[in-house]
Formats: sequence, C-alpha cells, structure tokens
Amino acid sequence: DLGRVGDELELPVYAVGGFVRDLLLGNENDDIDVSVEGDGILFAETFAARMGYRVKSHEKFGTAVIVFPDGFKVDVASTRLEYYATPGALPTVERSSLKMDLYRRDFTINTLAIRLSGADFGMLFDYFGAYRDLQEKSIRVLHNLSFVEDPTRVFRAIRFEQRLGFQISRHTENLVKNAVKMGFLDKLGGKRLLNELVAIMKEREPVRAILRMSGLGLLRFIHPEIVLQAENLRVLDEVKKVTTWFDLLYLAETVEVWVVYFLALTTAISDDSFWGACTRLSVSEHYRERLIEMRIHGEQVLEVMERKVARGEDVRPSDIYFWLRGLTTEVLLYIMAKTRRDEVRKFVSLFVTRLRGVTTSITGDDLKRLGLPAGPRYREILDRILTARLNGEAASRDDELR
Ligand code: ATP
Repeated sequence: DLGRVGDELELPVYAVGGFVRDLLLGNENDDIDVSVEGDGILFAETFAARMGYRVKSHEKFGTAVIVFPDGFKVDVASTRLEYYATPGALPTVERSSLKMDLYRRDFTINTLAIRLSGADFGMLFDYFGAYRDLQEKSIRVLHNLSFVEDPTRVFRAIRFEQRLGFQISRHTENLVKNAVKMGFLDKLGGKRLLNELVAIMKEREPVRAILRMSGLGLLRFIHPEIVLQAENLRVLDEVKKVTTWFDLLYLAETVEVWVVYFLALTTAISDDSFWGACTRLSVSEHYRERLIEMRIHGEQVLEVMERKVARGEDVRPSDIYFWLRGLTTEVLLYIMAKTRRDEVRKFVSLFVTRLRGVTTSITGDDLKRLGLPAGPRYREILDRILTARLNGEAASRDDELR
C-alpha cells in the first residue's frame, strides 16, 4: 500500500535502514523507516488519510510518523527539504538523491534501501557495500569524520556490534580510538550520552557492551572514577540474572532495567561522584535527587540485612517488610545483585513475590467506627496488625481484631 500511494503521487518510495538490515539478517524489526525522494510529508499524509491512520508531521525536518491502529509505526523521511529562508520569500528547495540521504547515516549496514514503488519494486539499492558488510559481520562508518560529526555513533557502533554479534571493523575502531584521544566525546551533550547508555542497557547483553566501552576507554566520559573492576563486574553480571528472574515473574509492573545496571556500574564510587555522573548525563534534578536518595537508602538497608545474617539473628517476615517497603523495585533488584549472601537475596525475593502484596483487611475507617480517636495511633495499630499478618499470626479479619 505504501508503494501504491507512492505511484499515485509519482514519488519514489523506499524502505531503508534498520528495517532492511534486519530483513536481510532474518531478525525481527517492527519499525519501518521509509524514505521518499520528494515531499515525504505529502506522501505520509496522503497515505494516512487513505487508510484512516494517524499521522504526525514535522515540517521543519520533512519527516512524519504514521501510526497504525495496532501501534505499528512507519517513520517517513524526505530526501527533499523545502524551507523559507526569510518570511515571505519563495521556498528554498533542497533536493538530494536517495544516495546522498543514505550517506548521512551511521554505518554501512544501515544504508540499504528497497524500492517500494514503481517498476523497480523490490529492487535492493546498495551504494556503500552494505551487503558485503552484513555478510562479513562488520560495522563500518561511511567516512572518516563520522564520529566527529556525531559522537553518539561510537556508542551505537558498540550497541549494534553486541546485538548482532558483529565486529567493529579495524579502521572504524581506530577512528573510535582517535575520537576518544582527541576528546570529541567531551563535546557530547549529557542528554544524548544518557540516551545511548539507556539504549545499550536495554539490550539483551548489556554487560558485554559495557566491557567493550571499558576497553575503548569510554566509561570515563560518564565519570572519571568509573572503571570496571572485579566488584562492579560481578554485580553487573548478577543484574542480568536478577532482572531475568524478575521478568519471569510476569508481574504487571515494569522496571527501568537501565537504572539497575547504572547503579551496578557505579556501585564503587562515592555519593558525590555518583551525583557527578548523573549531572554529566543531564539527569533531571528531580530524578537525580530521587536516584541518590534511593541509592543511599538501599545501601543502608543492605548493610542492616547483611549484619543481621552475619550475626545469625532471627529475621521475621515483618522485619523484611519494613526494611524494604520504601525502596523502588530498581533498588530492590540492585540489592539482590549486590549482596554476597544468599539469605539476603532470599529476603528480597520473598518481599518482591509475597510480602509486599500482603494487606490487612482492617482499615483506618474500621478503627474510626470502633470509636478510636484519630491520630498517629492509627498507623501504629495498623502496622501491628500488618506485622501479625506478615508473620502468619493473623490469618483472618477476626484474628486482626483480636
Ligand atoms: P533499532 O531501532 O532496532 O535500535 P535502527 O537501525 O532502526 O535500530 P534507529 O536508532 O531507530 O536504529 O535509527 C534508524 C536509522 O537512522 C538507522 O538505521 C540509522 O541509519 C539512522 N541513524 C540513527 N541514528 C543515527 C546517527 N546518530 N547518525 C546517523 N544515522 C543515524
């Protein structure tokens, strides 16, 4: 259908980039990137109107997103940009070919295009040796200034390398090393760096990518004190296990896996340095404060639990509950990854799977009805009842009333 609308408007339409790459590799990819040789917005809007789909256009960039009813998305880009240099002036039209458009991309493997319209329907366009690089499993930039132009590509290269099981080519790796040496990565804005790190930590095997970043000397651009050593590497490996475990619980809740990895990566640095790393990454002030507070709180609770276990003291479910209830799931998983004690790991897993869902059937309203004067006593009483529930000393409402 995309091709048909292209034919009607007499616009050459191509599927490009990651979609074509994954198609040839036999990998799943739900995002189609479409490039139109001409006015992409006109194309997207015509197509969406025809199908009754939603479309969002960005005039300034000549791009649009078509959203299918099932959430499936098509990104449309124009190889022609039309803009008004001064108000009232005639539009300046800049038309470039598909080839020029593809040349602006990050790696050769992302430069393949398949024609969707016209007589050439289905034809593969490979201007930069992408097919060969897919076969050789090689990540290559298109020109020597690629990383200077956009340093985020350094992280993208690592992400694709690890995800696809490819290898950054020797020449490209040398360009990475050069960009590192020349300090081009210092110029990378915090938000963009954070986005890349988050993308890496959302991949299936973030630890290998982190090792690779470490090997190329990239971690110090987050914070000079972040280095990989045995301890944070161990915690990072454990994060993989605990987040997989958490996934398998099929809870409705989603967790920001990148936060767990980030806490693990920075586990050995001081609170001040952690704050510095968050600042470098332009984490919003609000979220930064929350992260550091959580980190401190989490470490304290971890210490308490480990001390208890080390001393062989008795730990009741209610103890676990009240230790852990103020922590976010991300920090709970971090604690599970960090502890060296199986008992502590079991405490946290018991909390996540059972204890945190325990409630009392008596509420504040019930206490009011019983004629109790409102006040801090309420919390105390309800916590006592909850404690009894958690420890299995109260199984019913009647038990609670007693
Ligand atoms: P995925 O979405 O599965 O991570 P993708 O290849 O679709 O992989 P996107 O980040 O969605 O990656 O980018 C879409 C396309 O835009 C890519 O194929 C790539 O060619 C291009 N692109 C993205 N970021 C850059 C960049 N920093 N420099 C040049 N081209 C880029």
